[in-house]
Amino acid sequence: MSAGDEAASRPVLVAGAINTDLVARVEKAPEAGETVTGSSFAIFGGGKGANQAIASARSGAPTAMLGGLGDDDFGRERRADLDAEGIDTASVARRESTPSGVALIVVEEATGQNRISYVPGATRTIAADQARDAVARVQPAVILATLEPPPEALAALFEAGKQRGSVVILNATPEAIGARPFLGQIQMLIVNETEAEDLIDSPVSAANGEDAALALSRLGPKTVAVTLGAAGAAIIHDGETATFPAPRVEVVDTTGAGDAFCGAFAAELARGADPFTAAKVGVAAGSLATTVPGAYPGIPRRDAVQRLLAER
Ligand code: ADP
Repeated sequence: MSAGDEAASRPVLVAGAINTDLVARVEKAPEAGETVTGSSFAIFGGGKGANQAIASARSGAPTAMLGGLGDDDFGRERRADLDAEGIDTASVARRESTPSGVALIVVEEATGQNRISYVPGATRTIAADQARDAVARVQPAVILATLEPPPEALAALFEAGKQRGSVVILNATPEAIGARPFLGQIQMLIVNETEAEDLIDSPVSAANGEDAALALSRLGPKTVAVTLGAAGAAIIHDGETATFPAPRVEVVDTTGAGDAFCGAFAAELARGADPFTAAKVGVAAGSLATTVPGAYPGIPRRDAVQRLLAER
């Protein structure tokens, strides 16, 4: 047993979207002005921020969320989901005049293609003061943010985190380009292959993951993890690189795999692990997430991740 297993974890603050995914399956997607009859409908909790907060909490870190929800049924349901995970939702604002974030997803059965209309709603109302208050209240050891909140809220969050001495991690998603203004302000960056390509403007694959991490670290963050799907993740920290291949698993649904990586990575750091250990744990968590359908249900607990690592 490593020292990290004994240590009580310090808090993680996760900033990002909390959404509700409304998923309709249809044989063929409707054209403009057309109505088609679908075969099934389901509602799932989602949002990368919420997924990552759940991953951090299931990895054993005391976790708080910075976000926004509307004063509506979806908002109440999503808050209850997070509360049930033991996540501190006191910094999730409830907005009376803005709806909760929703993604309308049409899955076309004939082609397997998705058509998604996403309305961020209350996530776009996360305010700079709200971010500063969350840092003052939670006193996080680690801050993990996506690019879903407004840039001014992220700037305030990162500044407050820096002043407090928190480790600041940015997961440059959903649109990596939005990370550019922050690269000098954050210590750690997590990206997938596509996001890495968007930031360094050249192709990234499992074959050059460490080179990509090096190129990204030259843009500011001294620690960079590039997740590589089935190939695991490459990481650079203080100029040293490593690659952690993913275990071979039976993949059912890759939704939320990147979020499972991020949340487990942050929780491991909060426990005092070094970034290499955190990346190894993140890879195992991401891989386990692919073996279960759906984002929230697939996010693994720390004991399952540790068992997988012990088997290898
Ligand atoms: P994202 O979901 O953000 O696109 P990735 O696809 O890189 O991110 O996946 C994140 C992590 O999930 C990987 O580092 C890996 O550990 C795991 N993972 C993803 N796809 C697979 C797969 N096909 N087999 C095993 N592990 C996977």
